[in-house]
Amino acid sequence: MALKTAEEFIESIKKMKPRVFMNGKKIENILDNPVTRTVVEANKASYEWALDPRYQDIMTTISPLTNERINRYTHVSQSIEDLVDKANAGTFTAENLGTCIYRCVGLDTFHSLWANTWEMDQKLGTSYFPRFQEYLKYVQENDLSVAGALTEPRGLRDEELKDWSDPYLSLKIVEKKSDGIVVNGCKINISGAYAGNEIVILPQMAHYAGEEDYAVAFAIPADTEGITYICQYTPESAEREQADDISELGNPVFGQRETSMVVFDNVFVPWERVFHCGELKYSGKLVERFARTHRMTCGGTCKVGFMNIIIGACKLLQEYKGMEKATHINDEILEMVVLRETARACGLTSATLGCEDPVGSGAFLPNEIMGNVSKLNVCHAFWRVLELAGDIGGGLTVTLPSMKELKNPETKDYVEKYLGFGSPAGAENIMKVTKVIQNWTSGLHGVGTYHGAGPVMTQKIMLNKLVGYDKEMKLVKKALNIKD
Ligand SMILES: Cc1cc2nc3c(=O)[nH]c(=O)nc-3n(C[C@H](O)[C@H](O)[C@H](O)COP(=O)(O)OP(=O)(O)OC[C@H]3O[C@@H](n4cnc5c(N)ncnc54)[C@H](O)[C@@H]3O)c2cc1C
Repeated sequence: MALKTAEEFIESIKKMKPRVFMNGKKIENILDNPVTRTVVEANKASYEWALDPRYQDIMTTISPLTNERINRYTHVSQSIEDLVDKANAGTFTAENLGTCIYRCVGLDTFHSLWANTWEMDQKLGTSYFPRFQEYLKYVQENDLSVAGALTEPRGLRDEELKDWSDPYLSLKIVEKKSDGIVVNGCKINISGAYAGNEIVILPQMAHYAGEEDYAVAFAIPADTEGITYICQYTPESAEREQADDISELGNPVFGQRETSMVVFDNVFVPWERVFHCGELKYSGKLVERFARTHRMTCGGTCKVGFMNIIIGACKLLQEYKGMEKATHINDEILEMVVLRETARACGLTSATLGCEDPVGSGAFLPNEIMGNVSKLNVCHAFWRVLELAGDIGGGLTVTLPSMKELKNPETKDYVEKYLGFGSPAGAENIMKVTKVIQNWTSGLHGVGTYHGAGPVMTQKIMLNKLVGYDKEMKLVKKALNIKD
């Protein structure tokens, strides 16, 4: 059965025993902890939608490997149409979750691995491509949730790898055996990995002579022996832990974008799950192909969905608080719409200008310039949307009392009266919608958007590599009849 039910996914997670820590304590069961549970819920929703006839076209497709219907989050794009569908699925998923599409990083590593393993086999005579395809078939047939891990602690930013105080600040092979490799090190900021079935590991950066043991990509079950997850812990985690009623939270069911450190302590990976091992030139290519795909996702698809939620909350509050005739608020909301549509246009253009890369591989990747432009654009656009939403939300965005006051006999009447603003919407609705705006503007999302898929500088570095200005200079010379 290539499409699991939500219940089957939960059963698969119950069987796993990842070693997870949060706030200094071990989490014995990620389904019971209110914070880690949000990640399970977000993944679970992707199974529900795939089996819902209303969303089948968005969330599923037919696999070229198995010829069965599969979840789109396990499908490597085989055409421009697939890339466009991938973009639309990203927006759909994000606007319905209001948090990370935890399966998207894994999906984008699949795109990079498909292209690179094919190319390595062609150029180096390796046999990684059939191995990777076997793995992907396994993922599709079992409808697995797969996280993707690239980011590493690295050493001091101004030091070269050879000068780091500890060689394991990037993930490194410690031993090659007849049946597999053993790795040590750590990945950081990894979205939702402990609540999925598998993790795909790619290098974070290009590697050079002498760094062969860092040039490694592989896949492992999320509860493999030797892996420890150390979760993020934020004010939002604390708030959720002590909430009696999750409806008071800005994103009740799916919560924040949850990440963790993933520590590898002598982790064994069998050869059939290793997709890159020492072929130096391909570490950089794995990262670049991942980056153009993931930057389309982060810049041009999921933030479009997030902006839909923010715009919806602002429109509701405008109505609830009697501000419908305020021209500057209409103007601010319209500006959000323009920013959202610009982000969407970047994502869709990345897809429609995408291409088969490498030619003959079958994998379609987004246009590299537009993938990077998507992310760079959204870094600024999203902050601007947050700024505008903060204005519309008013001071209450950050001064909101607890929703529990509505249940406290000593404060209930005051809060209902004074935070109801005489509106037919009532204090409870006004507070709930304001909490949504608080969740976006005053929490983790601004910085999260900046760094997810790489900070601004990484897109600028890529664009400087890709963009030339000869054509533009020639145009001016031609118009002015300037001859060299
Ligand atoms: C919400 C969220 C979810 C994420 N999910 C994932 C995930 O699922 N998988 C994954 O692999 N990663 C994930 N990431 C990681 C993300 O890709 C990284 O955070 C991002 O690439 C930035 O790396 P960093 O955090 O190490 O920051 P840093 O690299 O420390 O960046 C901080 C600043 O230092 C600058 N800088 C960095 N290196 C240098 C240098 N050598 N010289 C000069 N300046 C430098 C940067 O440009 C930036 O301005 C996630 C991040 C976030 C915030």
